[in-house]
Amino acid sequence: MITLKRKPLLMIVSAPSGAGKTTLCDRLVAEFDCITYSVSCTTRAPREGEIDGVSYHFLSQETFEARQANGDFLEHAVVHGNHYGTLKASVQASLESGQDVLMDIDVQGAQQIRAYLESGPDNEWIRDIYCDVFIAPPSMEDLQLRLWGRGKDDEAVIRRRLERAREELTCWVDYQYVIVNDRLEESYATLRSILLAERHKAHRIVSTSISKR
Ligand code: 5GP
Repeated sequence: MITLKRKPLLMIVSAPSGAGKTTLCDRLVAEFDCITYSVSCTTRAPREGEIDGVSYHFLSQETFEARQANGDFLEHAVVHGNHYGTLKASVQASLESGQDVLMDIDVQGAQQIRAYLESGPDNEWIRDIYCDVFIAPPSMEDLQLRLWGRGKDDEAVIRRRLERAREELTCWVDYQYVIVNDRLEESYATLRSILLAERHKAHRIVSTSISKR
């Protein structure tokens, strides 16, 4: 029997608000035990049902800034007026335990990680395990309908999110994979096949063993 040991994967998924990213990512994490979310830090207030340490680490502005000054974040950005950041140590701990890590972060965060990938010798741990996916809505009209439909935000917030979405959509060219989320089932089938294909890349195999069955 041939057993392969592989390096775990760091998968980044970005999308404009309302494109369906959370639904797709939640489903991926529910289906595959091998992949887990990276829990981000944020200064935004918890929404109903969100649990500190599970949905996010909810931090005060002061604590967030202190952790930023301490260099604790792999990336951080201001999104819709709130600070968000990924703790480098927690991503590294998940990877070291053998888990693939799914980072649901915005386009600015993905840009910072790509820059880090190019930056020098201390980024070796991330270089050949990185992949990124951009999820786009089928149209701006569709996005507008979805943002109205989910009833989470008021008109001014929706307007701002649509403006921001227009900017974010121009970033798809920087990603390795792009999914236009027109039909959910098809989009999910694509996302899970990206995960499977990435997990089977030969250059991430670190050891092989052959034994009699
Ligand atoms: P929400 O507040 O609706 O959960 O997330 C708003 C946006 O922030 C989403 O686009 C999400 O991908 C992004 N986001 C969540 N965590 C992080 C993070 O750690 N870093 C960055 N750059 N963006 C994040």
